Amino acid sequence: MTATASDAPAIAHFRFFALEVLRTRRLGHSFLRVTFGGESLADFRSGGYDQSLSLFLPPPGREHAVLPSTDEDTWFAAWRGMPDEERPVMRSYTVREQRRTSEGVDEVDIDFVLHGDPAAAAADVAGPASYWAGRAVTGRRILAIGPAVAENKSVRFQPPAATDAIWMYADETALPAAAAILDRLPAGTRVRAWFEVPHEDDRLALSTLAEADITWIVRESAGRERTEQVLGALRATDASTGGPAAEAPYVWLAGEAGTIRAVRRHFVQERSIDRRAVRFTGYWRLGASEEELLAEAYAGKAPSEDPASAL
Ligand SMILES: Cc1cc2nc3c(=O)[nH]c(=O)nc-3n(C[C@H](O)[C@H](O)[C@H](O)COP(=O)(O)OP(=O)(O)OC[C@H]3O[C@@H](n4cnc5c(N)ncnc54)[C@H](O)[C@@H]3O)c2cc1C
Repeated sequence: MTATASDAPAIAHFRFFALEVLRTRRLGHSFLRVTFGGESLADFRSGGYDQSLSLFLPPPGREHAVLPSTDEDTWFAAWRGMPDEERPVMRSYTVREQRRTSEGVDEVDIDFVLHGDPAAAAADVAGPASYWAGRAVTGRRILAIGPAVAENKSVRFQPPAATDAIWMYADETALPAAAAILDRLPAGTRVRAWFEVPHEDDRLALSTLAEADITWIVRESAGRERTEQVLGALRATDASTGGPAAEAPYVWLAGEAGTIRAVRRHFVQERSIDRRAVRFTGYWRLGASEEELLAEAYAGKAPSEDPASAL
């Protein structure tokens, strides 16, 4: 596929940020929190909830990610035109939290799922982002296209005003987004959530003021059978958190694309939820790297303003 400047996702509400690893912390069996700093973060404006951003990570064998241009109009063609061995790897992640510390330092947390073989000798075995995160040390620098305004299209969680309950399904890649949504929901919000994780130790402690009823699904199989396990857990539970039945639920689904399709069908067909009240996003697809998904997306439709939404 030949890239031209006109293929470039416009970044009106987004801009480049230079991020530097400040520290890392293991949160659970599969999760590593990387806390980033950097002077440009003073202009970073996360909209919270499931705010996502695009990271540019060093290609295998390189220490830092370098782009020939970070200009809004030319970066995409310049990035696509780089030799494979030099081109930074673009990946979508969630802003788990943005804060300014009492010392005035701007920080952003991103929770990476470490998938694949953690001892793999090469990035292509584990996936370049997982591989990079597993080896992140203080001082490592990457680039990101992130929000410059809080109201932006990479916040997908947009419940209508009349919503009387939130129903959520997330796998581990979407747990950081689900956790950030729960962080923000006001007291009294009724939430029914199903969170699928690979390991017992990934059942993270989540804080919320909402009345949240959470079912953890610890995965028994890494293959397609996982979808059946999730559907089984959904079918076995009532969504009305012990209170009256919700009349206007808003359903937010994010995770592996095949499972998300099946879970969406479950809500629309088996629970008769209005499809317009279901916000669903495939965060990754079993057997396909993000490059492959982006290539499909660019071949099939015009890229949107939000690079991550190409998925
Ligand atoms: C909007 C959005 C927000 C996201 N937020 C987060 C986040 O906060 N944290 C996070 O960890 N991920 C998040 N993801 C998912 C993440 O972008 C993908 O998992 C991505 O593929 C990881 O890149 P990689 O280089 O490690 O693997 P890739 O090179 O993209 O894939 C290599 C292989 O690994 C497989 N694979 C990819 N991810 C996983 C996984 N988690 N488990 C098992 N196999 C996998 C692929 O199917 C492929 O076969 C988000 C995705 C989107 C679209």
